[in-house]
Amino acid sequence: MNCTTCGRKVELSKALCFQCLKQIHKLSQKHSSEKKISSLFSYQEPLRSLIISAKVDRNIRSYHAIKKIFLARSYTKQLATWANYVAPAPSSLWSRAHLKYDLAYMLAYHLSRQYQITLISPPFLQGWKVSKQSKATARQKSAWENMPELHGLGDKKLLLIDDVTTSGETLYHLEKAFPTYYAKALCLADAS
Ligand SMILES: [Zn+2]
Repeated sequence: MNCTTCGRKVELSKALCFQCLKQIHKLSQKHSSEKKISSLFSYQEPLRSLIISAKVDRNIRSYHAIKKIFLARSYTKQLATWANYVAPAPSSLWSRAHLKYDLAYMLAYHLSRQYQITLISPPFLQGWKVSKQSKATARQKSAWENMPELHGLGDKKLLLIDDVTTSGETLYHLEKAFPTYYAKALCLADAS
């Protein structure tokens, strides 16, 4: 098999060669527990190609590689230990509506399994025709506000998971929409 990002020969079970994996770890961002929104990596090569390969080409080896990298980070573990609930960022619904692989949902799902945290899953609304991200955000927000699972969370701690974030904007809006609980967001990659 070949490395999904550079094409070098790799073992059958691996999606990435050693060099690309090392490059990805070099993209690590600094974390502070004070920050509400954190990203594990900056959105640069070869991580960018790996994410595109999973999301757009739906490459299963890339998907597993991302999952492994995401779950193995100590900061992921730190936030998972902090949280009572985990949820994919509603922005990921936009991907689903456009038939892209929903990476944020997948990461949130595996995190909830690994750390035994309750997963809050936004409803999948079929037939959404959203042309603009801003429009999608408003509609997704109202979809979330109507979710029965969110009522009664009280002051519980919620960890939002996103794949690629261009700015923290959507996540900030989300926090504003749910002032009754404490939310932090963890993104795989920061593209801002
Ligand atoms: Zn490589």
